[in-house]
Order: sequence, then structure tokens, then C-alpha cells
Amino acid sequence: MANATTIEIEDMITVGTLAEKLMLPVGKVIGELMKNGVMATVNERIDFDTAQIIVGELGLDVELKRKEAAAPITTTRDKNSISDKAVGRPPVIAVMGHVDHGKTSLLDRIRGANVVKGEAGGITQHISAYQIEHNGRKITFLDTPGHEAFAAIREHGALLTDIVIIVVAADDGVKPQTIEAIRFARKAGVRIVVAMNKMDKEGANPDRVKQELAEQDLLIEEWGGDIVVVPVSAKTGEGVPALLDMLLLVSDVEELKAEVDVPARGLIIEAHIEQGRGPVAHALVESGTVKRGDFIVAGGTYAKIRNLESTDGKTIKEATPSTPVVITGFKELPEFGDEFAVVANEKAARAEASATATGKKNAGGRLDMNSTELIRMINRNNKVEEFNIIIKADVQGSLTSVMDSLKALDTDEVAVRVVGSGVGTITENDAHMAHTSNAVIYGFNVVLPSNIKQHASRDKVSIRLYKVIYELIDDVREELTKRLAPEIIETDLGRLVVRGIFKTTKTEVICGGEVTKGKLVAPALARVMRDGEKIADVEVTGLKRGPNDAKEIFESEMCGMSIKTSGRVELQEGDHIELFTREMVQRSL
Ligand code: GDP
Repeated sequence: MANATTIEIEDMITVGTLAEKLMLPVGKVIGELMKNGVMATVNERIDFDTAQIIVGELGLDVELKRKEAAAPITTTRDKNSISDKAVGRPPVIAVMGHVDHGKTSLLDRIRGANVVKGEAGGITQHISAYQIEHNGRKITFLDTPGHEAFAAIREHGALLTDIVIIVVAADDGVKPQTIEAIRFARKAGVRIVVAMNKMDKEGANPDRVKQELAEQDLLIEEWGGDIVVVPVSAKTGEGVPALLDMLLLVSDVEELKAEVDVPARGLIIEAHIEQGRGPVAHALVESGTVKRGDFIVAGGTYAKIRNLESTDGKTIKEATPSTPVVITGFKELPEFGDEFAVVANEKAARAEASATATGKKNAGGRLDMNSTELIRMINRNNKVEEFNIIIKADVQGSLTSVMDSLKALDTDEVAVRVVGSGVGTITENDAHMAHTSNAVIYGFNVVLPSNIKQHASRDKVSIRLYKVIYELIDDVREELTKRLAPEIIETDLGRLVVRGIFKTTKTEVICGGEVTKGKLVAPALARVMRDGEKIADVEVTGLKRGPNDAKEIFESEMCGMSIKTSGRVELQEGDHIELFTREMVQRSL
């Protein structure tokens, strides 16, 4: 393809942007994706390989080239860009694995706390981080959530991470989310250490786990590979120090370094509003040193750092690379996943923040066409049933996760339309908006002030509060299911050939004939057919065998039939009457 146009795209690209770059209607790209079994809407991201397949299938004279990702997160990780002045830094560890395999218990055991019991549904709801000291050295842990609804967050988590601990319960083995975690870790190019948990349990079967890991191409050290497997019990604490030793060892091999002589940069890993403190952001420092009083820009907002704290609430003066910190002083709430940077002064902070905010808005304007609208564009004739909702969540991370999970529910018939969303308690404004847009308000880990409750019940606004994300998603799914048009199933019963007509009025025909196929029952729906063409839709109201009413008439029997018609139907001998039933079946998503 010597003349092919070359288009550079990043590793991941939204369907909308790809269509734009290919100068194709977005519906065409979506259609092609669907043909290939990928159900993606305009805002969803597909990877480079998928994009390449689509371009191939569309027969375009276009060559895709992978653009180097411009994300500073990766550049700070790039070993080649590290100067001589860079110093060693603690490793950043994420814990991943299948639900119930003990991620939370292990993180709590390492932290020396025990908060697992207080958690709704046993699922960690948002991302934060903490740092511990082991053998006089620091290790940073990302407190990554455990449920698959948090796939989005976990992907971000993997980007921040040097080592992923994959927790596998020794009595349960490798499960779907274990495999997913392995995939994330590989994609992010981070080292994997396996914690084989629940070794205290009777059913623990380490050999089976090792075998199953090998099936995922994770070859453990004792079998000649480079994957370390540490048997642990989060319950008894057995093996945990060995796991920490191993993390330090692996990070020594990786020679983790960061620049310190540069303006500080990093990533926002959680943000929420606290009463009396305003926006509170948790951030992970990647390079440089963050100090109290610094001007810091994150996304479209900035702060003069009022308070700098460690994630366990202690005031600190400064934070060096790999340190998780809590920052207050932001004008507005930054977003989870926003990069932050320390700048020289307030003027620079304000300018940069407003530039980013405008950029975001523009990007949003281009890509923000919601999936519902798009689906409507594709099937102009088919009306999409919409379910309007407003979502309020406690922290930005949860909100992002809820929104991401909801997107996956849309089909070409029904769709969730988020008419409003935000972080914080449910307000009167939300209730008002719900009332005018006929929306249901979903609150995730937020409280409902009693005056708002009254206001909402007066306006008949439904407010539903959840503490477990998948229960919220299930509720929305149920609502969407209700909006799916039921499937109509017609079942053929039998056929009568007309041998005589006894009475015809505007609304009724009485005739007689022979059953030539199947079985007749009454009441039933029927089609009157003449020479293979339908001449009327009717209802069979009664059947007679001789002089007696009958419920059923079988093949090759003769019978009389009463028919209800809408309008006069002039039946003729030789017409066929085909009886059938029609059932409405509620479909599910
Ligand atoms: P997560 O979903 O991966 O975060 O799992 P959790 O930490 O919530 O643990 C799930 C269940 O397994 C809880 O009932 C824990 O008490 C239990 N559990 C976790 N680790 C161990 C362990 O090492 N031994 C035993 N016996 N139970 C464990």
C-alpha cells in the first residue's frame, strides 16, 4: 500500500475520534465494530489492534500508526529519561485479584488495621493509598477496589504501579478476575508477585494454584520462571513479612528512581468534598517534592496547598516521590486520574487550570455526544427507550466507576441517560432537576437530608440510595429491562378448511369445516387465508363437535366454528383458517 494515507493514533482511541480521523460517519464505524462482535458506543475506547482490524475490514486505503503516548505518567517512568540526579524511591504496589480472595484483608493486615468488617458488601469502594515501613524502607500501597465494576479504576491503578500483587486464594485457585488482573498487569508492563492467600485453610492446594498460574503463562521461580509466589495468610499474618521482603527485592531489581530536582508532578487518586474542609484530594507524588503552600494545578482547577497530610491524617511538611498525600485548598474538586503539577505562582496556576478546563470542555463537546443520541442516529426509525437518571456519589472515583458501568448497559433499544451527576450529598437542585426531567436519583454512599426527602416525595421523585455498586447497577438494569418492548411469540395451533358457511354478520361468522393440520382450540386468534394470502385477522370464539360445544378439535375431525370479526368477512368454501396464540414475553438485558 504505497499510496496509503498514514494516520497516527494512540494506543487507545474513542470510536468517535477514530471515525473523525477516518473521515467516516461514526455510525459506519460502530456498525463495522458490531459486525466484528464489538459493541462500542461513540465515547468508548477501543485499542489500536481493534482499530486496525476495522480499517482493514472497511477496505480503506489507510495505514494506522501507533502514536507514542504523551502521558507524563509513562514518561516519568521511562528509565531513559531519568537523569543522574534521580534518587531511589519506594515501590508503588497495587493489589488485585478475584473477589473474596482476600485483597482487602491482605491490605488491612499489611497496614495493621482491620477495617474489613465495616465495609458494605465487603467491597472497597474507592481508591486511596497508604505507606508502610518494612526493614527501615518504605513501601506504598494503592488501596485498589475489588469488584469488577471498578475495572476503570484498576486500569488507572495499574498505570501508577510498579508491582502488582495478584492475590489468589489457595483453596479456590485462578478465577476470571485473577486472569483479568494478570492481563492488566501485563498491559501496564508492571512486575507481578503472586500472594497465595488463605494458606491457613484446610482446602488450600498450592500445587493446583501453581499449575493454574502456569496455564496463564505465569511461570513461577521454582519451575524455572521469574514469578515469585509467596504463600500467605491474611488471617493469621503468616507469610506477610516474607511477601514484603519479596516486594523490596523485586523493586531493587527494578532500580526504581525518580527525579527530585524538578517541579513536583503526580496523579490525583481520589477527590471528595469534606464538610468544613472543602475539596480534599488524595494524590500520589511521582517526581519532585510537594510542599505546603505550593501552587498546584490539577485538571481544570488549582490550589494553594493549605494542608498537606499523609493518608493516615498526619500533617506533613513535604512529600517526596511515591508518597501518597492528602491535599486541601483546591478551588474546585479535581478529578480522579487528573495529573497534577506544582507551578511557580498563583498566576501560572490560574492560567494553566483555565487552559486545561477549556481544553476539557472542547474535548467534551466533541466526544460527549451520548450513546443514546448516537443510537438514535443509527436507527432513525426505531425509538430508543431512555431511562433518565441523576447520579450522586461520595467520591469522584466511585462516580467514574458507576458511570463507566452504566455505559455498558445501553443497547440499541434502551439506554441510560445521565441528566446530571456529581460528587456530594443529594441537593434540592438535584430533586428539582429530577422532577423536570422525569429522572430517578441514584445516590452512592451519600446521605439524603430529610428536607430533600420530603421535597422529593412531594414531587414524586424517586431517590434510591446504594452502598454497593453492583446493586445500584442491577437496579438500573432492571429499570432498563422494564423498558424493553416485550417479545411477541406466535405459536401455530391448527388449520381448518372451510366446507360450509352458516351465518355472516358484520361482527360474526359461523362456519363448518375439517381440521387439516394440528389441533384447534378456542378461544384463539386466527388468520383467514385464501389462495395463500391473508384476507382477515379474526378471533375464534367457539368450537362445536356435532351439536356440542368442544374445547379441542383434532386433525381430520369435522367441526363448527364461531368467529368474531371486525367488519364483514365474506368467507368462501375452501378458505383456510389458521389458528394461533400470541404471547408477550418480557425480555431481559
Ligand atoms: P476481597 O474481596 O478480595 O477484598 O476479599 P476479602 O479481604 O474481603 O476477604 C474475603 C473473605 O475471605 C473474608 O471473609 C475474609 O475474612 C476471608 N479471608 C481473607 N483472607 C483470608 C485468609 O488468609 N484466611 C482465611 N481463612 N480467610 C481469609
